[in-house]
Amino acid sequence: MKTYTRKEFFKVATATGITFFLAACGISNKKKEKETSAQVPDSSKKVIPEKVPSTNLDLVDKKDPRYETLRKGFNKRFDKYPAIIALCSSTEEVAAAIRYGHEKSLPIAIKSGGHSTEGFSVNDGGMVINLSKLNKVEILDGGKIKVGPGCTLSDLNDTILPQGRLLPAGSCATVGIGGLTLGGGYGLFSRKFGLTCDHMIEATMVDGQGNIHSTKDDDELLWALRGGGAGNFGVITEMIFNTHPAPTVMQGHYFKARKLTAEKAASILQTWMELCTQLPDSCLSGYVLNGSTLNIIITNYEPANDSKLQPLITKLAAVTDESKSSHWGKLAIMLKNHYGSDKPVNLRNSSAGLYKGYNDISSCITQVLEKVITTPGMIYQVDTLGGKVDDEEFKKLSSYPHRGFDFLSELQAYWDTPAQEKRLADSTTHILKIIQQNGITRQYVNYCSIEFNDWENAYYGENYKRLQAVKQKYDPDNNIRHPQSIKA
Ligand SMILES: Cc1cc2nc3c(=O)[nH]c(=O)nc-3n(C[C@H](O)[C@H](O)[C@H](O)COP(=O)(O)OP(=O)(O)OC[C@H]3O[C@@H](n4cnc5c(N)ncnc54)[C@H](O)[C@@H]3O)c2cc1C
Repeated sequence: MKTYTRKEFFKVATATGITFFLAACGISNKKKEKETSAQVPDSSKKVIPEKVPSTNLDLVDKKDPRYETLRKGFNKRFDKYPAIIALCSSTEEVAAAIRYGHEKSLPIAIKSGGHSTEGFSVNDGGMVINLSKLNKVEILDGGKIKVGPGCTLSDLNDTILPQGRLLPAGSCATVGIGGLTLGGGYGLFSRKFGLTCDHMIEATMVDGQGNIHSTKDDDELLWALRGGGAGNFGVITEMIFNTHPAPTVMQGHYFKARKLTAEKAASILQTWMELCTQLPDSCLSGYVLNGSTLNIIITNYEPANDSKLQPLITKLAAVTDESKSSHWGKLAIMLKNHYGSDKPVNLRNSSAGLYKGYNDISSCITQVLEKVITTPGMIYQVDTLGGKVDDEEFKKLSSYPHRGFDFLSELQAYWDTPAQEKRLADSTTHILKIIQQNGITRQYVNYCSIEFNDWENAYYGENYKRLQAVKQKYDPDNNIRHPQSIKA
């Protein structure tokens, strides 16, 4: 695989017009060498740790040749060394691993796809439960599917799209369905169908003591796992989802504006946000400012909505420098345009607020955009939620607390050398401070950041107290934890 410098990477992503969601998702989708946790190294060279609690449990320590690969995630920023990695192949093995960790007083982290934006799926000196082997997809009757948390989004699509089924999820190939679902999960199909967590109808969880539970016995647990379940109460080992008949085609519309001032970028953002209130639900749109270059994308998978989209396209073309539309292509192929790299990157990625509309950010947006424009390597992105994400029934049945906030923003910063990292980190902190000081308090837990002091409220809003009661029930001793896990 060709490796890209940051400069080359943006050139490719911009040229192909596929800079969307995380820019890390914008690299070409040719077959790539795999380096993420989804890859399970050769076990024939394994060195067995001295104390193995269960004959079947595969424990990997620092002496094991697989350790180096397994401890790493998608983000090269995190360089942590757990004492033990439990490579689990079943719910029972997860239970044995948790009991072992508990017995040894090891804090337990959980890794499905390894994309946590703060490296919460790995720790120093503790135990990591690695779920990359729990990655099967089974198609059940009635359009339901049973999925292991270690399944990646591309493997999921490859299995169910050919069967004519779709699970609305994120866009990047190597993201794990485990972490994505438990924090919400949005993507190209959420406005039409809802979040990934809204489709999870059953889950199996091993709690902090090593006991196995099904959500069939506890509606409150299912409610909690739909948006509040990432690394908080136990390890999810199996999920059952409702799916939809898969659309067959998709089209993309792309707009670009160059050499923008902060004022001009803000003015286009306002126009775009106002236009997005008329976006058909089969569409999703993203505003991506990378330095002084802006890319806007709209995707659509319902040709019947084309005529409703045309006025928006005309208005966006009038405020940008270039526009183009792709052909209507087969969905399975068009989705791969957004799959991106499965090669780890240096990335600082953070939620930058959920907004109801432009008024929420009008007081500070010029300041924010000015910082983005003057910080090479920094990207500010806003994506549309809304539509079915705001469904009242989904709201009742899930702990995801941001229904009604129809725009989700995030900051991304990429670098090649450690010297660049400090400058980008300082700019990220600066922007997050501006946003917070201007009353933006809601943040998406799947783009978590250790810079959110009030993270309990930012991620979970008024649901935090109710989630604490679930923590008290399933993990009162806080065996399952990361720096921002829910406290009993
Ligand atoms: C390149 C990239 C693209 C992304 N694209 C999107 C997108 O399109 N849409 C979107 O909504 N989000 C997106 N995200 C955010 C993504 O959803 C989160 O980072 C998510 O947490 C990743 O899940 P994972 O399983 O890959 O990560 P992991 O690092 O394995 O886990 C993330 C968190 O979930 C917890 N967790 C994982 N598995 C389990 C389990 N089985 N039981 C209990 N807790 C568990 C971990 O403790 C950790 O806190 C993207 C992130 C990146 C880096």
